[in-house]
Amino acid sequence: MNPGRCLLACLISASLGAQAAPEALRATAERLKVEAFRTHGAYEDLAWLCDRIGHRLAGSPQLDQAIRWAHTRLMAVGLSNVHLEPVLVPHWVRGREAAQLLLPAAQRVNLLGLGGSVGTPAGGITADVLVVGSFDELDRLGAAAKGKIVLFDVPYAGYGQTAVYRHDGAARAGKHGAVAALVRSVGPVSLDTPHTGAMDYVPGVPKIPTAAVTIEAATQMRRMQLRGERIQMRLEMGAHTLPDATSANVVAEIRGTEKPEEIIILSGHLDSWDVGQGAQDDGAGCAMAMEAARLIQNLGLKPRRTIRVVLWTNEENGLRGGLAYRDAHRAEFGNIIAAVEADHGSERVKSFHLELTKISEEARISALVALKDTMGTVMAPFGVSFHLGHSGADVSPMVAEGVPGIGVEHAGTHYFDVHHTEADTFDKVSKDDLAFNAAALATFAYALAQSDLRFR
Ligand SMILES: [Zn+2]
Repeated sequence: MNPGRCLLACLISASLGAQAAPEALRATAERLKVEAFRTHGAYEDLAWLCDRIGHRLAGSPQLDQAIRWAHTRLMAVGLSNVHLEPVLVPHWVRGREAAQLLLPAAQRVNLLGLGGSVGTPAGGITADVLVVGSFDELDRLGAAAKGKIVLFDVPYAGYGQTAVYRHDGAARAGKHGAVAALVRSVGPVSLDTPHTGAMDYVPGVPKIPTAAVTIEAATQMRRMQLRGERIQMRLEMGAHTLPDATSANVVAEIRGTEKPEEIIILSGHLDSWDVGQGAQDDGAGCAMAMEAARLIQNLGLKPRRTIRVVLWTNEENGLRGGLAYRDAHRAEFGNIIAAVEADHGSERVKSFHLELTKISEEARISALVALKDTMGTVMAPFGVSFHLGHSGADVSPMVAEGVPGIGVEHAGTHYFDVHHTEADTFDKVSKDDLAFNAAALATFAYALAQSDLRFR
């Protein structure tokens, strides 16, 4: 047995020796669930956030309003140390957008600019369209892209795999002299709903306007090209970037009774794209984290370790909230037991994904075994499983430096249908799923706070 393994085995046995009896925790889990379904607090909070504040892009007055609202709500629950941690965030503004197909037939095209894009020159851009199915195809065609609007018509093959076209499309097309880049929306289905998202330019390559079109429009233009028809479009985008704006992460705690310096973070991101209501992405994650803390507080439970709620700013187009938190909290890293992030919508929770960096694969597997041993019984009524995997974007700067991350994964059946679109609205949230998820998060955080489990 190598020394690393011995250390882990000792930690695991210590955690099993000190943790609360599984039967007591199972009873607490049941109480949390009953309370969550009695009050439906997460549902009420999310309804307010969506109905009364709406979408919340970094730099917008709506995000400021949401931050103030969350602060007030967490104060009202009676949590400790409720405060804002200021962060400077990018301030991108969409402006007016319009697109028309001019040839081979005049039609309006539904368009959504990508966050960070430049606008078109005054009067817009009119140019022929070149449809490609991959970066490789574009590179093979090379000079054919010059002066054109390049459309990446790439079918959805999973979020991470396909979103690269949205993120890098403008730089790849700009390199070949294109005047604009369009991307087929990154999602499995469409009801003429374009999906926005983040993009980046590359130094030394001209910055060209870039936007998403719907699956309907992308496949239509593909068919036109296959028929040998000339495709011409007109684009107008008023997108521009203002100086950085002030924003904040919202923080609140239930202080641990025995080991207050040891921290379990429960988090979601309060910002959203500037379309829809940011209900699934990620109002739901924030509402669940807030409700989990409220359930623990309202039942008068006294966690041994500190449970800290963090509502991040600027996940969508900068990650400045997560980066600033990493920089400000380095001294605590050794005592952050886990940084949990819920950023996968509101459907029923399915699994927790443990992410550990800077240790061997063998040590990761030992830590996963310890997680299952410590939490498996208490979480069994929620039907969740435990795996190694990705934790979350906002916690990723900390996780990269060795803080254990845990990502909350939900059923996600329809998450990417509405994600980053005008259709990400409150009506698609299930009241019971949200209560169930809040109780699961509360149980997980509380049981981890009662244990001595450490993942490294
Ligand atoms: Zn999100």
